[in-house]
Amino acid sequence: MHIAVIGTGIAGLTASWLLNRSGHEVTLFEKQSTLGMASHGMQIAIDEVSLPCDVPSRMFNPLLWPNLSKVYDIAGVESTSVNPSKSFCPFRPQNESRSKAWLKLNDSFQLSLLPQLLLQSSSRKIVKDISKMMATAGSELERIRSSDSNSVEGFKAYLERYDYSNEFIYQFLYPALASTVCTCSYESLDQYPTDILLSAMQLLTGSTPLQRTVNGTQHTADLLSAGVSRINFNTTVANVSSTNDKAMLEIENQGSNSTHDFDHVIVATQANSALAFLDPKMRIEKEILAGFKYEDVSVVIHSDPHWMPARKQDWATFNFLSRHDNQAAMCSIWLNQFYPEWETPTPLFQTIMPLESPRPETLLATAKLQRPTVSANTKIDIDRLRNLHEQPDRRVWFCGSYASPGIPLLESGVVSALRLGKQLGFKIPNACEI
Ligand SMILES: Cc1cc2nc3c(=O)[nH]c(=O)nc-3n(C[C@H](O)[C@H](O)[C@H](O)COP(=O)(O)OP(=O)(O)OC[C@H]3O[C@@H](n4cnc5c(N)ncnc54)[C@H](O)[C@@H]3O)c2cc1C
Repeated sequence: MHIAVIGTGIAGLTASWLLNRSGHEVTLFEKQSTLGMASHGMQIAIDEVSLPCDVPSRMFNPLLWPNLSKVYDIAGVESTSVNPSKSFCPFRPQNESRSKAWLKLNDSFQLSLLPQLLLQSSSRKIVKDISKMMATAGSELERIRSSDSNSVEGFKAYLERYDYSNEFIYQFLYPALASTVCTCSYESLDQYPTDILLSAMQLLTGSTPLQRTVNGTQHTADLLSAGVSRINFNTTVANVSSTNDKAMLEIENQGSNSTHDFDHVIVATQANSALAFLDPKMRIEKEILAGFKYEDVSVVIHSDPHWMPARKQDWATFNFLSRHDNQAAMCSIWLNQFYPEWETPTPLFQTIMPLESPRPETLLATAKLQRPTVSANTKIDIDRLRNLHEQPDRRVWFCGSYASPGIPLLESGVVSALRLGKQLGFKIPNACEI
């Protein structure tokens, strides 16, 4: 079969990797000039060296990302542990002095607190509520999953019902979830289905460390696409339509348009991008995809230490800063600790969802990304998409991190591609659990 894959994020790359292993002919289309998964990566020129930096710096572990980890193993992607230390402090704008950390965790969530911080009543409340959430997460998940009720409780309602303290929610939990794990606004976090976040917390807080790839995202994307001979960069898909026996793509490359036929087309773009090119006749597909909502996420690379705790000994790999009004937070990743092999003396940072701009002279790059948000309706839309895939004579298929239940992570992109592959009869690695 000759199959087209649109989009080269993790979902499109996993789909084409599977297709290739199954002996199918595959043609990839990507509107950007590089593989989409690595398209925001950059070289940082500093202290007379040039350092390769992934943007965003993505992480995973075999618990929350079991299928990604297996695909990476088979494809030969090497990984290494990330120093998991975290600091939490109030956000102070540039015209104020830097703030003191109210909490620092050195190893995952094993609560190695700075002793003096335990003297603060807010820190004591945070520690008490972390323990409470960890102790009850398992039984709460069982209760939610075995419940007959169809209604999904949003995370904020759950936290209020169980009387979690504001200190725990706004000085610890929301900053960590909103500015890294889910990268979304607090309003969206309020609506997140509780079971998804409790389950993620359980899998992220054990002793299994977070990993990053050793050789960076570009290398990972190259390994996943290694067997694909036809990759069309700078090629925007302008229209997708189908009949009972073929799928048609209209593409635009350097100002000229052309049409191509395939046995199948796998749409592995973001759901909101697909809306722009699906033929108007694909009314139901468009209606389902319109249900998936996205938020803008910006990431800045800079050398401004203002967004770090006042005392250098409190600096951690992940430094969370919460806005005074409890409405937003940001995270500064201390890149020199994230990439210990970097030997540059200048401290470098990657700040996710910055609450203000870094000083201009410290700004190295800005990236604009988007991430799907998740609410009670998301599972309904995912089920509708799955039902659509059951239709006979289907030629156009959808995968992406938005299309699997849970937090939209690399894992969900991989799972959605594996599920699709299984449905289309491709060879799925035995080790994968879908
Ligand atoms: C700041 C941030 C940090 C994150 N950190 C992590 C992390 O640590 N761990 C983790 O697992 N996940 C993380 N994620 C989430 C993860 O990056 C995404 O879930 C994942 O990359 C989505 O992959 P995808 O293949 O579904 O979509 P995408 O990566 O969005 O790929 C879609 C591709 O389609 C292409 N495209 C779109 N329209 C067209 C068109 N018309 N024609 C041709 N091509 C087109 C796009 O250019 C793009 O390359 C993070 C996300 C953000 C924003």
